[in-house]
Amino acid sequence: VHTQDHIQFLEESCGSKNSGYLDGDTPFSSSSFHAARLASGAGIFLADQVLGGGAKNGFALVRPPGHHAEEDHAMGFCLFNHIAVTAEYLKSQGIQKICILDWDVHHGNGTQNHFYADGSVYFTSFHQFPFYPGSGATEEKGEGPGLGATLNVPLPRGSGKSEYDRAWNLFEKEMDFFQPEFVLVSAGFDAHSRDPLGGMNLETRDFENFSIRIQALAETFAKGRLISFLEGGYDFGALGDSVRAHVEVLSS
Ligand SMILES: [Zn+2]
Repeated sequence: VHTQDHIQFLEESCGSKNSGYLDGDTPFSSSSFHAARLASGAGIFLADQVLGGGAKNGFALVRPPGHHAEEDHAMGFCLFNHIAVTAEYLKSQGIQKICILDWDVHHGNGTQNHFYADGSVYFTSFHQFPFYPGSGATEEKGEGPGLGATLNVPLPRGSGKSEYDRAWNLFEKEMDFFQPEFVLVSAGFDAHSRDPLGGMNLETRDFENFSIRIQALAETFAKGRLISFLEGGYDFGALGDSVRAHVEVLSS
């Protein structure tokens, strides 16, 4: 998922300074390399648990987040792309069709780019648009063997339940054809109405409903096998409420 140069650069940056910036909005501390590796490792650990029958699903409650991280550089608070690492690990273990749903308010550019030409991983993103990081237009649908395995649903600022319902309907229709064997979620909660970075109008109960819908999809196609990753979420009250609702659904 990442170049050796990128991994080395992060290790050296974190090893040589107590703090600094990897790009305009990606700070690091001396512990960030270790924390980011643990976060990617959490995904691999959960994959082993779910594949081995030790757990039906799992939630990686991690920081830093991952979906903006590109092959060769950190970006948007993200150092390593944990969900991409986990999807590649699942492929190496014989899983042939993986669904990634990214409902963070920002487009998951790093994840999309990594799987853009890969038809075995269907990447879907619901996001505010136009907005950071700028990618995620409807026309971005994949390329080569991955053409048609990327679904972008850009939504205008201020979108709430009804706009997201339409996005879900599109996504669920696509999954009826794709029939994933494993479901991964980039679960950011920065589309919450109380979030200071996002401009959307979702409430905690909407994220609860998202969780019910993705769990049902995993049950239908993937024997319930689902791993979700914490991405963004910057109002700690809204984030805590939403994560709690998400985990309660997954563990029900
Ligand atoms: Zn975000």
